[in-house]
Formats: sequence, structure tokens, C-alpha cells
Amino acid sequence: MFEKGEIDENYVRVERDELFKFIVNVMVKLGVNRRDAKIFADNLVTADLRGVESHGVQRLKRYVNGILSGGVNVKSKIRIVREGETYALLDGDRGLGQIIGFKAMKIAINKARDHGLGFVLVKNSNHYGIAGYYALIAAKEEMIGISMTNSRPLVAPTNSIDRFLGTNPIAFAAPTNSRPFLLDMATSIVPIGKLEVYRRKERKIPRGWAIDSNGNLTDNPEDVFNGGALLPLGGLGEILGGHKGYGLSLMIDIITGILSGGVWSRYVKNTEHRDSNVSHLFTAINIEAFMPLKDFKKRMDEMIAEIKKLRRHSKFNEIWIHGEKGFLTEETRLKIGIPIYRKVLCELNIIADQLRIDRLKVK
Ligand code: NDP
Repeated sequence: MFEKGEIDENYVRVERDELFKFIVNVMVKLGVNRRDAKIFADNLVTADLRGVESHGVQRLKRYVNGILSGGVNVKSKIRIVREGETYALLDGDRGLGQIIGFKAMKIAINKARDHGLGFVLVKNSNHYGIAGYYALIAAKEEMIGISMTNSRPLVAPTNSIDRFLGTNPIAFAAPTNSRPFLLDMATSIVPIGKLEVYRRKERKIPRGWAIDSNGNLTDNPEDVFNGGALLPLGGLGEILGGHKGYGLSLMIDIITGILSGGVWSRYVKNTEHRDSNVSHLFTAINIEAFMPLKDFKKRMDEMIAEIKKLRRHSKFNEIWIHGEKGFLTEETRLKIGIPIYRKVLCELNIIADQLRIDRLKVK
């Protein structure tokens, strides 16, 4: 059984349905309606099932704080600002990004079904979790799905030491005859959530991920939380292509923050703050508008099969396709449970006690 990550004795396991129920209960207690709470819970549980520990239930505390501080509007009413056959611009009314994102992607899919393409921008939203969740919704409907979002400033543009860019992720999913292809990535070397994981584990980070407030490469995650910055994909300077990660991140800000009429990453705030003003894009492409779906899937299968047959580098065990490790991890965790770091479990217990709901039942 394959599983991503290093799971040791500091983790406990919990059944998928138990974790889902717990998150739904938390959100309902905080005033979210049950249907929307289920959408939110599915997003976080999917991240944990797929091995994206940085964006699963370890982030619940932040969303709870966002609601309690008034930053997140649990009674938000999504408004269509502009709309055409293939596009829409939505105002998220400061709601939970996961719920707005799910609904926006559904709108994009419906437009793509009728007109070949759905391109839906959202402004005035909050942190939406893993970008891949939304791209996968389209792939499950046999379409190509693309999602991106801007996020609060944590990344220094190439040759700068100031935080300006978000870790602005992009996800792209496409159907095949087996599991979808799913590229889901931050445009920084790592998302800040990965540093939160290292911080909890009191571990050093690989040198090259980030700089301290003076611009020195650091292996101490605290340096980043204390005024340092993450580096764009490609790292410091231009030698390994840092300027390309920088450009990808700006591209995402231009499409999401600038084109939507929202703000670019520098002015995006954390979920705990009012008007965090996060902007997203959801795109669905109807494959049948271009070629028969069965031909597309056959071509995808052929390309993937060719990659799998390439000569493997002696240092590595496997040539992977994007999304594959996540799907295998999901299969494993549906059988043996989702690992939760003990310190995260303590935080979840505190939330449960404060809200007077049942604590999470571990295996
Ligand atoms: P990773 O570096 O873990 O993975 C990036 C992509 O590469 C995934 O599609 C992954 O697939 C794939 N992959 C991993 N190893 C290989 C390999 N050897 N060969 C081929 N493909 C591979 O992602 P990040 O740490 O950059 O991002 C983690 C999550 O954080 C994402 O879900 C992202 O959307 C989210 N995020 C959210 C932000 C927000 O503001 N909302 C901000 C930044 C990030 P697989 O899943 O199968 O491993």
C-alpha cells in the first residue's frame, strides 16, 4: 500500500467518515448551513486523503478563527456581477473559499457543457484550500479543469527580499481511461502550509526554500514567520529559473486579482482578517468541442504509457504522473484511515470543547 509523507508514532489515524462528520459539526455549530458545511468538509478531507497535509484539517483552526473574528461571512450570498455565455464574474461576499469555489466550478462546467468553455472569476472570497479539488470536479465530469487563486504575500519576487507575491497555486486536471491527470502546485517552491508542518514537527527546512528578513538562505522555518520570505519556484536568483516561478505567480495575480477587480497578492489578507479579498479562477473546457472524448482519453493513455516506459534514473524507484501518488494515497487512507499529527489533534480537541461538540474519535 502506497502512502505519501513520513507517518510515524506522532500520528494517530482517523476514519475518513469520522473526520468528515467532525468538520461538518464544527462548521454547522459556527452557523454554516449543513449542505455547505459538507462541501467545506469534503475539501479538507480530500486534501488529507491525498496526502496534502499542509491543506487538510491542520488548517481548520484558521478557518474557525476567521469565522469567529468576523473575517469570514458564514451567511454569504454569492452575487453574479457580470455574465456571458462562456464567462462569469462572481462576488463571494467574504464567504468560505471552499464553498464559493465549488459553486463557481459548477457554473463553469454548466457553461462548458452548453458552450464549450466556462471561465468563472471570483473576487471577495477567502482562502480556498487545495486548487486541485476544483480542477478534479471538472475532470470527473469528463472535462479539462483549471483553477488558480491568489493568496496573501509570502514570496519575494526574484532579486527582491520583500514579500509581495502569494504562493499562488495552479491546478490542471484532465480525464484519462483510468485516474485523471492532476497537476496541483504552488508557484513557490513550497506553500507556507508545508512550513507550518515543519514548524510543528520542530524540524529544519531544506536550505533553498526560503530566505530570512535579510535575504540569507535559511533552514529555520521561524525565520520565514519572522519577516523572511518564501522563494518562487526555481529558487533564489535566475540560475535555476526563479524568475519563471516569479512570472507564473504574477500571471495568476493578473488573471485572478487584477482582471476580477479584486486585489493582487500584496493586498490579500489572511483568513482571520476582515476583507481578506482573495480572488480565484475556475475554468472548464468541454473536450467534445474539440474531439470525441474517447479519442482524447485514448491519446492521454498513450502519452502516459510512453512516459512510464522511459528509462528510469538509477537514483529513483518510479516515474510518476501528476496526481498518481495522491490517488494511491487516497486508496490507502480509505482503508487504514487518515493520519493526524498529535499536536493537530490537540488543537481539534480544543475547538471541539470550545464549541461543545463531540471530540474527533481516533482509531
Ligand atoms: P507538491 O509539490 O506536493 O506537488 C505538486 C504536483 O506534482 C502534484 O500534482 C503532485 O501530484 C505532483 N508530483 C509530485 N511528485 C511528482 C513526481 N515525482 N512526478 C510527477 N508529479 C509529481 O505540491 P505543493 O506543495 O506545491 O502544493 C500543495 C498544495 O497546496 C496544492 O494542493 C496547492 O493547491 C495548495 N496550495 C494552496 C494555496 C492557497 O492559497 N489556497 C497556496 C499554495 C498551495 P501528487 O498529488 O500525486 O503527489
